[in-house]
Amino acid sequence: MKPNHNALNTPAKKLCAITAVTAAALTLTAAAPQSVTTAFTVQESPTWSQIEALKGQPEIKAQQVDALKAAADKLSVKAEEARAVANAATAALVDAVYELPDPGALDEASRSASAAEKLDTIAGTPAVNIGGPSTGMLTSTVATADTNHGTTAGETAEAVTPEERVKLAAETQQTAEQEYATAQVEAAQVLAQIRFLAVDGQDPSYFQRSVDDAAHRVASEAATRLVEQKTRKQAEEAARLAAIEAARWQNPGKGRISDVFGPREIICSDEGCSSPFHRGTDVATGCDAPILAARRGTVVYADYDGTHGNFVLIDHGDGLQTGYAHIAPGGFLVYPGQQVSTGQQVAISGTTGASDGCHLHFEVYQNGNLIDPQPFMAAMGSSIG
Ligand SMILES: [Zn+2]
Repeated sequence: MKPNHNALNTPAKKLCAITAVTAAALTLTAAAPQSVTTAFTVQESPTWSQIEALKGQPEIKAQQVDALKAAADKLSVKAEEARAVANAATAALVDAVYELPDPGALDEASRSASAAEKLDTIAGTPAVNIGGPSTGMLTSTVATADTNHGTTAGETAEAVTPEERVKLAAETQQTAEQEYATAQVEAAQVLAQIRFLAVDGQDPSYFQRSVDDAAHRVASEAATRLVEQKTRKQAEEAARLAAIEAARWQNPGKGRISDVFGPREIICSDEGCSSPFHRGTDVATGCDAPILAARRGTVVYADYDGTHGNFVLIDHGDGLQTGYAHIAPGGFLVYPGQQVSTGQQVAISGTTGASDGCHLHFEVYQNGNLIDPQPFMAAMGSSIG
């Protein structure tokens, strides 16, 4: 049996070969620009192999460069828009977190923050996978982002609850960051293709490296922004909680109100007589009951004080002070100069001074003047007794 290299001499194969040669000759003969254009479609997102095929077609190459430049411009605009949306969403996110009604709602903010962490992956993925000739992966990423991109910063501001605002702002930001990263990497790919078309005899991988560099840069920038955003959110949240804590007032002692602020009979004991005007609110705590700081502050007095008996005075700043009278002998739990927190026990109730039974005599000073504690505490969102 003869080897197959003679197979081409069979009539059928010979005919095929002739047909192919003729077809090639016809294509070359009819190489008008229009017919070549149909052979190589000018694209905004060509593959590397398509780009490489254009290198021997100067006229089409020029058209492709123009198309790529237009694509690069569009991607640049898209990236700028996405960045602006992401920045606005970041600001909205911080605002929304700041307006969360209570610390319990912070769980939602934490979940949003962890969603934002996915940006690391999104930005990092192109850096790993960009080496291939196709932009299909990037295109699908953009398609996903477009589908999800129903939320704008404006809509976020109109959301009903703070929790929803946090969620929407986080989602908007994530989507915009994703679009930004994708546009940046796609732009890098397009620019690399333009440069590749401009030179002869270069390995495409040389140009793909600049795409990889862009992807790494985008990932690194995303990670940096994420850290900055987290830090900012944490600082905002700490400030918010500190403000809540600073503003918080609480009931200084438990029991029924046994006497209110205002004129009343004089009470005398071995230690003196009380004023004809009752300058505080009495709470029937009973003996040895806890007396709590109504608000955080600094203890400015903790000692015997005439008709007050054993007396603690706390300065809260803002021109406000609170006093706690008739404390039990040895019932001081704080000392002058000590910082106390809201609700911290400062003393034990008793009946020292001008008192006829164990109770807390609670006073509020505003700019040095005694005021009625009950309406004041009510205004501060706290009860007495
Ligand atoms: Zn009193």
